[in-house]
Amino acid sequence: MDSWPSVPVPRLPGYTGRRPPLSLHDTATGSVRHTDPQDGTARMYVCGITPYDATHLGHAATYLAFDLVQRQWRDAGLRVHYVQNITDVDDPLLERAAHTGENWKALAERETQLFREDMTALRVLPPDDYIGAVEAVPEITAAIEALRDAGQAYAVDEDLYFPVSAAPGFGSESNYDRATMLRLFAERGGDPQRVGKRDPLDSLLWRGRRPGEPFWDSPLGTGRPGWHIECSVIALNRLGMQFDVQGGGSDLVFPHHEHSAAHAEALTGTAPFAKHYVHAGMIGLDGEKMSKSRGNLVLVSKLRAAHVDPMAVRLALLDGHYRADREWTGGRLPAAEARLARWRAATALAAAPPAEGLLTDVREALADDLDTTRAIAGIDTWADDALSSPGSVGASGAGTLVRSLTDALLGVLL
Ligand code: ZN
Repeated sequence: MDSWPSVPVPRLPGYTGRRPPLSLHDTATGSVRHTDPQDGTARMYVCGITPYDATHLGHAATYLAFDLVQRQWRDAGLRVHYVQNITDVDDPLLERAAHTGENWKALAERETQLFREDMTALRVLPPDDYIGAVEAVPEITAAIEALRDAGQAYAVDEDLYFPVSAAPGFGSESNYDRATMLRLFAERGGDPQRVGKRDPLDSLLWRGRRPGEPFWDSPLGTGRPGWHIECSVIALNRLGMQFDVQGGGSDLVFPHHEHSAAHAEALTGTAPFAKHYVHAGMIGLDGEKMSKSRGNLVLVSKLRAAHVDPMAVRLALLDGHYRADREWTGGRLPAAEARLARWRAATALAAAPPAEGLLTDVREALADDLDTTRAIAGIDTWADDALSSPGSVGASGAGTLVRSLTDALLGVLL
């Protein structure tokens, strides 16, 4: 599937002294650990949208976090192989289409295009492989067949399930106890109550054809694949096992990432699926998580239509740690707009304080589990310094360097 256009990333001066590798928090071990890409290429998979509604600020914050991961790796001289999926056939999409009477494919195409436009406006670097579930049905089906043939799938009526007993490492990504798993499984699209399952936590691999639902012919019969195996296979077939980062919002820790990892580990007989499981916090509004079901979404496209500078939206979302659940309060956007104006004014001065030390500070802050708050504070201090004795407007080496570093490392174009 077509991705969206990339933007140039300025090359920054080389590092002086010993460069810290990018460290990220890993959910599986509960610790901040160095990433350690091999052979000069970092490999990352981030779960994409289910395109039945427009991109809200919670989505945007997640993709911005992983955009910063990519930017720090690239600054360190690594190539990045970035894969993202689009769940362009699944229950929520089909339910929405049935509710509004729209063709499900048309709905998915429209919302995917809006997502591309939102990501472009926010200057998010595109994935190298942007893969729709629909286009990946043959490869996903082949993987389910392999699981079935290895005795790692069983039938309940016309559907196929993955027995968690087939994955010795099941539970090692989320580290949740069984009671928590059962609760989250029920809350997040699982079916623990279904009669005929061997274990309530077993997950759907293949959903047999239902009246009125799309289906594909396959050696498994007619039907469509489940969501967790979709991500396992799209990632595995492009990145292999033990890729560097599996990313997504914190609501994907369980069951989605646990089951995706379990499927891949069962398919290959090796572990782990990913070396880091990295999760971004949720964005709330008025004390509630921003979500479609609560109807409290702030949409990126609405902000764009209101002529809000996308760089202010980006800066507002980066002003807070990516792992923290954050509130989108009324003051966030004006504060980011004011900060952006100050940074632009400071970098436009003919005489500005040196910025080589700032570059080192920002690199070190971001290498430390993407500490954007510290990075932004450093740039604020530099800008305050520059503006404390403003001279004439004109080009300065320091101003150019700061514009390059906010662009390359934070994706904020001044
Ligand atoms: Zn996924």
